[in-house]
Amino acid sequence: MSRGDMAKPLLGHRSLEGDPSMPAAGRTIGVLGSGDFARSLAIRLVCSGFKVVVGSRNPKRKAGLFPSAAEVTFQAEAVKKTDVIFVAVFREHYSTLCDLADVLAGKILVDVSNNTEINHHKESNAEYLASLFPASTVVKGFNVVSAWTLQSGARDGNKQVLICSNNQEAKRTIAEIAQVMGFTPVDMGCMSSACEIENIPLRLLPAWKIPIFLALGLFLCFFTYNLIRQVIHPFIREQKNKLYKIPIEVVNTTLPCVAYVMLSLVYLPGVLAACSQLYYGTKYRRFPDWLDQWLQHRKQIGLLSFFCAALHAVYSFCLPMRRSHRYQLIETAVKQAVEKKMNIWVEEEVWRMEIYISVGIIALGLMSLLAITSLPSIANSLNWREFSFIQSTLGFIALVISTLHTLTYGWSRAFDENQYKFYLPPTYTLTLLVPCTVILAKVIFSLPCIRQRLLRIRRGWEKGRYVKFVLPSATGEFSSGETSSNV
Ligand code: NAP
Repeated sequence: MSRGDMAKPLLGHRSLEGDPSMPAAGRTIGVLGSGDFARSLAIRLVCSGFKVVVGSRNPKRKAGLFPSAAEVTFQAEAVKKTDVIFVAVFREHYSTLCDLADVLAGKILVDVSNNTEINHHKESNAEYLASLFPASTVVKGFNVVSAWTLQSGARDGNKQVLICSNNQEAKRTIAEIAQVMGFTPVDMGCMSSACEIENIPLRLLPAWKIPIFLALGLFLCFFTYNLIRQVIHPFIREQKNKLYKIPIEVVNTTLPCVAYVMLSLVYLPGVLAACSQLYYGTKYRRFPDWLDQWLQHRKQIGLLSFFCAALHAVYSFCLPMRRSHRYQLIETAVKQAVEKKMNIWVEEEVWRMEIYISVGIIALGLMSLLAITSLPSIANSLNWREFSFIQSTLGFIALVISTLHTLTYGWSRAFDENQYKFYLPPTYTLTLLVPCTVILAKVIFSLPCIRQRLLRIRRGWEKGRYVKFVLPSATGEFSSGETSSNV
């Protein structure tokens, strides 16, 4: 984006009237209703260079709420003055507009309404409006944009406006108006899509459901496992009350487990996809649905992994602040004084801790980079190579460094039989399973014979077919050659 573009005000009065590239600019737009949405819409339309006429049941009372450039009048008066009318009224009140049917005939009605529940009514609100006004053309649109987004400017909120209608011409007109207002119109097809468009604002984090359940499931499993090892075991074996460990210590040993396993789950589907491509010798075979879903949720899984890792860092930072920690320190110091121990320095432990913390900080730094670059505004500023380098290469390095962090935490504990509480191995040994499988698989895939085959498959080569393909030579230049499929 140029500096000049940045310097432009987000919203400002500008006249696009007569602009041949924007035939919709400068026309008069009607708005029925004077509520929150109508007000925000009118402000935005005025700022985008349109003439606005608002139709209200009580124009005198409502006029003061609108910008002076917008005309506020009775509903019938407003409708007469324009061919495009936004119906900013709730579905329940559509029938009260039926008296206007004659004046609305032949005009475009934009249904902006939302429901309070998914699939609330048999037919969509837009189809219901169309049934009430058969002589008008109904377009569904703008319902995914909130009143706040309309006022705050397209650059600050969701830029997409989903539009559908059975009339192509009407849809094009509304798309042009949306564009002039600074939104990106998305054609969703004919009126039968209205129901889907109306359900969109009601869906709660649809892309996050599976990753959140996955994270909660993992958290619950690891939390229970750690609770048994850290609290229940000392209670049963030594009658010691360690309940105080639950809020911080148990949570803090659980969080890194979840973060680490989730990070490996970002890269596992890629490994499975590569295995499938190698096995079937083609990239044109569809992955099973569960793998497709998994691949599509990698970003959310990665962000949740980062969230848990960040929480782990904060919890670890606060560990020395706890009163229990202070008591334990003093207790140890007193014991040492009684035993007249002067030198308590254990060189190996010192090194283990230094490496463990340093590697953990690096892993968290890399994960922050992955999280930041997955944000659309940052991702859009990167080219494909930069994005794939960060998400794929640096992401894999983050996984390797997290593995080092876990290994330095464990050090030799896996070989200490005191660590096997109720014969349960230390938690970190369990977490290593999936990440180490992913790392091993990646190492195997990087072997030249397998890497070449995978590269060929990803460029379109298929097992059982005789095709011409292009391979990079050792120098990095591309050389073409004929090959039989079984080479
Ligand atoms: P609102 O503040 O309650 O306004 C509704 C308006 O409808 C009233 O101001 C009223 O204006 C008009 N109206 C016409 N006939 C009516 C009747 N018989 N009874 C009551 N009111 C009547 O609601 P809103 O938030 O602006 O929402 C309006 C529409 O936009 C809804 O369909 C909503 O789903 C949709 N929408 C809203 C948002 C949002 O962020 N608010 C976002 C997307 C979509 P007069 O009194 O001047 O006639």
